[in-house]
Amino acid sequence: MRLFWLALLHTAAAAVTVTVANTPQRVAIVGAGPAGASAAYYLDGLIDADIHVFDRGPRAGGRTQSETVSYNNQTLHFETGASMFISVNRNLMDAAHRFNLTLCEHPCTGGHTTGLGQYGIWDPVARKWVVRMGGWLDKARMLWRYGLSDLRTVRRHTQTAVDEFMQSYTRFDEVFATWDEYLETRPAMKEALYYRAAEYYQGKISQRFLREVVSLATRVNYMQDVSTVNTLGAHISMAAESHTGYSIRGGNWQIFARMLGNATVHFNTTVTGIQRHQKYRIATNRGSFDDFDMVIVAAPLPVANIAGLDVHSAQFVKVYVTFAIGTLNSAFEDAPRLVVTPYHTTRPFNCMSVLACLSTQCAKGAPVLVKMFSHQPVELSEVFDHVEWHREVVWDAYPALEPRNSRYAGEEDGRYRAPRPGTVPIVLDTNLFYVNGMESLFSTMESQSVAARHVVHLALSQYKPL
Ligand SMILES: Cc1cc2nc3c(=O)[nH]c(=O)nc-3n(C[C@H](O)[C@H](O)[C@H](O)COP(=O)(O)OP(=O)(O)OC[C@H]3O[C@@H](n4cnc5c(N)ncnc54)[C@H](O)[C@@H]3O)c2cc1C
Repeated sequence: MRLFWLALLHTAAAAVTVTVANTPQRVAIVGAGPAGASAAYYLDGLIDADIHVFDRGPRAGGRTQSETVSYNNQTLHFETGASMFISVNRNLMDAAHRFNLTLCEHPCTGGHTTGLGQYGIWDPVARKWVVRMGGWLDKARMLWRYGLSDLRTVRRHTQTAVDEFMQSYTRFDEVFATWDEYLETRPAMKEALYYRAAEYYQGKISQRFLREVVSLATRVNYMQDVSTVNTLGAHISMAAESHTGYSIRGGNWQIFARMLGNATVHFNTTVTGIQRHQKYRIATNRGSFDDFDMVIVAAPLPVANIAGLDVHSAQFVKVYVTFAIGTLNSAFEDAPRLVVTPYHTTRPFNCMSVLACLSTQCAKGAPVLVKMFSHQPVELSEVFDHVEWHREVVWDAYPALEPRNSRYAGEEDGRYRAPRPGTVPIVLDTNLFYVNGMESLFSTMESQSVAARHVVHLALSQYKPL
């Protein structure tokens, strides 16, 4: 969905040279998702080492996975996890081009695109549309409903934080060993972590814009409302919703499968422990692998269950992703492409997108393929008259994006929560590094790739032969 246009700066990619006296001969990477695959890719570009990647799953991509379903001789493709990235996501765009993968406009499902409107907020309690934008009058209607000033304000705040993130593409000489140090040179990102979006924007924009536009973006991207999500989560969500989204035809996971390149990849191999004897030993469900000079953990420790490696981290949000083919019931039969429920409810879903219309005339009552995000299983009869097929995937999706130090909604002024501990470290031990602390700031394929690239540079610059 493209609600607004938001200009982001393209900065020239910097060439990087890492000069180290010694380099590791054998490196283990835990996780073949965006972070682990990126770590293997950037490491391979810098040094000549024997790289082993371990993943408990059967293929690359981590939370980036895709499936297909056949319907009336049409093959429909859908992303069950991370589904889109945007043109300024330089690592992913560069990799897509380098590996000759085909970019297509999100959702890249096949079938017919619905001619229905852009977005709507459906109130299931009042059983009516709070707002519904459709047809060629969209832009004029949005201007009439929201005016320009709130949009400009949110765009300005979002842009400042996004510009700071974009510095990651040019400041390869930066050295930081925790994500808190990273934030020290990024004041807008740091400040945004301390406030709920609703608090941050109080007095700056109208409640209507906050509840209908900003909240729509945060519910779609992080399943959180503006009253709970931190402001950095809101900035990232608004940036994502302001751009055309892209996917890779056939599945985003292909980027990460290609990035693994020359590494030796051990799929279906769960890492249960990382022990340091002389060098590192990786204990797995398939036996031990020895003699690693360096280890990069690129899997979220709160869900990886690796003995001895505990970090304090926000709880992961459980997300149900439900796909269904069928005919929508009368409440939704003229639904726009994206439907979000308001802040006071999560039923029947947080959001639903109509991925494809499955008849040539996308008329009311035509079968459609939809994707729904929810915190609990979707009761399909609340949405459909008739369901022909469905599939549910449950994820430990991403850390809850809570503010670090913020007033509880409804509390009296001046009463603040205890500050949250800082973000988790990157350096866990000598030559043992952790990428996924980045997810405590926000979680996307691109930011995990950027984080992995930084960790590779840090790891090589700190390398000590064991
Ligand atoms: C439903 C959903 C929608 C999303 N939408 C988007 C989106 O549109 N755009 C976007 O950019 N991001 C999106 N994200 C977020 C994105 O998927 C994550 O930010 C990204 O996948 C994180 O990459 P990672 O490599 O750090 O972790 P993961 O992708 O989780 O990869 C970690 C890998 O480590 C493996 N692993 C874990 N523990 C072990 C172990 N003990 N031993 C061996 N292997 C292990 C896992 O099997 C996994 O393959 C979405 C996520 C979800 C769940």
